[in-house]
Amino acid sequence: MDKNKFSGLLDGYATFREVIYPRQKKLFKELVEKGQRPEILMISCCDSRVNSSQIFNSKPGDLFMLRNVANLVPPYQHDGGYHGTSAAIEYAVTELKVKLIIVMGHSYCGGIKAAYENQDAFAELDEETGRGFTRQWMNMIKDISANVHQCSHEMTEREQLRKLEQDNVLLSLKNLRSFKFVQEAIDQDNLELVGSWFDLDRGVVWIANEETKKFHVLKGEKD
Ligand SMILES: [Zn+2]
Repeated sequence: MDKNKFSGLLDGYATFREVIYPRQKKLFKELVEKGQRPEILMISCCDSRVNSSQIFNSKPGDLFMLRNVANLVPPYQHDGGYHGTSAAIEYAVTELKVKLIIVMGHSYCGGIKAAYENQDAFAELDEETGRGFTRQWMNMIKDISANVHQCSHEMTEREQLRKLEQDNVLLSLKNLRSFKFVQEAIDQDNLELVGSWFDLDRGVVWIANEETKKFHVLKGEKD
């Protein structure tokens, strides 16, 4: 490990040890003794600017966090693959019995931009270079990406990207329902799904209306 890079974290760690941990010591103890019981599964992007714990000022034990490139939920697939995202969703819904799943997209998403720009270059892994995982992963949104290219000519590129970032959240919600245990929990009124999108320019969270396919800012802020 690069010592200098790691030392950049030490000031923050000192604050955690001196200020944050002592304040939350009791909470940590409780979470160890009773185990975690988060009621929310938060699915968001790996992007370093989008930290849902910070955005919602949540405490340890509040959010079960699942982060991947472009906050994608793959559709249910029974093929013997290593499905890390599906495993986390299964654990959250069937073991932790979360009450709410939030999928949170965001503006300036690099994964979405790559999918938007490489419209004709969705590909399989390149055996020679060993690369291509991102493109293969982003294959999942190939159809909605093509749709944005075809149907949004009057929009600027930024507006098209925003549409794709938001359509992507709606697709993830749809794919969540393709898991039998998710749909069953919804049918039994034990689980709700919410789509959202974080606007980095303003630090504002938008919420999806799945019926209208539109997003609106969360209470008290202007669109
Ligand atoms: Zn992203």
